Amino acid sequence: MKQQKPTTDRYTLADLENWRERAGDVDPPIRLGVFGALEACKIDTRYARFHIRTNELRSALRFLRGLDFIGINLTVPHKIAAFAQIDEADEFATHAGAVNTIRVRDKKLVGSNTDGDGFLQSVRSEFSVDVRDLRIMLIGAGGGTGHAIAWQCALENCERLVLVNRTCEKAQALAEQLRPYFAGPRVLGPAARLETVTWDERALRAQLADIDLIVNATPLGMNANDPSPVPARLLAPHHMVFDCVYGPSKTSLLRAADEAGARGANGLSMLLHQGALSFSLWFDREAPIDVMRKAL
Ligand code: NAP
Repeated sequence: MKQQKPTTDRYTLADLENWRERAGDVDPPIRLGVFGALEACKIDTRYARFHIRTNELRSALRFLRGLDFIGINLTVPHKIAAFAQIDEADEFATHAGAVNTIRVRDKKLVGSNTDGDGFLQSVRSEFSVDVRDLRIMLIGAGGGTGHAIAWQCALENCERLVLVNRTCEKAQALAEQLRPYFAGPRVLGPAARLETVTWDERALRAQLADIDLIVNATPLGMNANDPSPVPARLLAPHHMVFDCVYGPSKTSLLRAADEAGARGANGLSMLLHQGALSFSLWFDREAPIDVMRKAL
């Protein structure tokens, strides 16, 4: 049996530039990775973490084209920027304008996005409900994850979607793209099926009576002292609260959900499902989901 060599905790752009020298002797070889600037998913050992800054992404992707990688994942804040720098993208990634999975094929970078589908599966497993039956408020609609979730909700034809974003114009632009998907009538009351609202207490309160699921797709919650994107006083026991942020301790949003008696789930199961879907894209077979769940 081959001796397994340990890998460095986190690689950088400089390592990628001199990859054969820095990691060429790692055995088994590193051929998968995640590029991120803040936080990364730690799925398994030979799947290495790369600390890549915003201004380094273009160079990192250029080096990647010439290396023997199977692919990488992308996380905050690279998903939208990477979309503009890859060679091909599948249909869903093109809709979302964001990629979280890249395959390296013949020195070309092929992008996909498994966040939307991962979100769908995660909501089903956490709350035993289907996105298509829900009225959803999505906070962070301007980011890569927010785009993917919004598109998935539209393609699923969910009952209602309310977009919220710090920079409101980005949510409005997304709403314009999604409008045709919400043109048909649905069963649940007179409230508009697709809306963009400003991120203030009055506007959120007015919407939340007609919302079942609240989703946080901002990074708020990654730091212990981040404020909750929605204060506990606006939440009610009928709400389901899904925080894409994952970590060892409860996020401020999930603490607010507890306080209001609402059901909450963090992003760990989304990480699992979107990771399993990435695995399937890289290896063209079903992911060992139980092994991955244990590793998480
Ligand atoms: P991103 O592309 O950088 O998007 C950030 C979004 O959050 C934008 O809408 C941005 O608003 C908003 N935002 C950023 N900082 C904010 C702040 N201080 N206050 C209010 N809004 C803020 O990031 P991303 O890649 O989509 O990731 C977002 C989060 O989702 C991260 O925490 C990531 O870890 C998590 N995530 C989890 C999973 C999972 O599997 N569980 C998968 C994907 C992502 P503006 O448009 O105004 O800048």
